Amino acid sequence: MALVLDADDLAAEPGLGGLGLDLEELAAFEQALAGGRGVFVLAAPTRGERVGAYRAVLARAVRLGGSVLSLEAPLLRPLDGAVQVEGPTSSAEAVALAQPRPDWLGLCGPLERIALRLAVDTALEGGAVVLAVPAPSAATALGRLEFAGLPRTLLDALVRAVVVRREVPRLCPHCRVAHEGGWLGIGCAACGEQGTRGCLPLASLTGPALAEVSPPRPALTARVRSLAQRGEVSWDSVADFC
Ligand SMILES: [Zn+2]
Repeated sequence: MALVLDADDLAAEPGLGGLGLDLEELAAFEQALAGGRGVFVLAAPTRGERVGAYRAVLARAVRLGGSVLSLEAPLLRPLDGAVQVEGPTSSAEAVALAQPRPDWLGLCGPLERIALRLAVDTALEGGAVVLAVPAPSAATALGRLEFAGLPRTLLDALVRAVVVRREVPRLCPHCRVAHEGGWLGIGCAACGEQGTRGCLPLASLTGPALAEVSPPRPALTARVRSLAQRGEVSWDSVADFC
């Protein structure tokens, strides 16, 4: 099977600590992952943001021990300790893949019905599932999974945590100027005339895993607004969140 890399897979590996969760959320997420059961939903609108979060969580799953099966389309770069398979493309293949049931099952690709059925069985039998979902928020990610065929009752029963991950262009500190109540990067030699330098990771955690240990956290939209007020990102980034 040919391994074809795309540019998103080559993005920097963030690790759980680099996802952009605040410290309380990160602690709650790590604790929930250590429990090793239930469904963990990773939502992000772009493939690069999703793949970064997915690889970070699967790497943690490998370190926690147990078997890790990752169904990917297209295949990602090799992940030490995980069995990575392209697909599944047929129900027979999916059934074969699930025997014996892995401790961790990851899905990073199209939300095929057969793959989701495997995910539900894994979680109902006491395993853990990691689902990468193309969505900009927790609510839309859960809606997307419902649309793909997962009944809401199962989602409510099985989902332990939803992590939403975004990467926001960071304004260049050398050339940002106050502009109409916000900040604007006008471009300079330090940023190659782009006005921005690198990206700021932002992530939020919702779901029972967080509710058990912490009061509700500020929404990502509120966080990106306060970053814009401080001149870390532009108001255009705020508009992208809404
Ligand atoms: Zn600059």
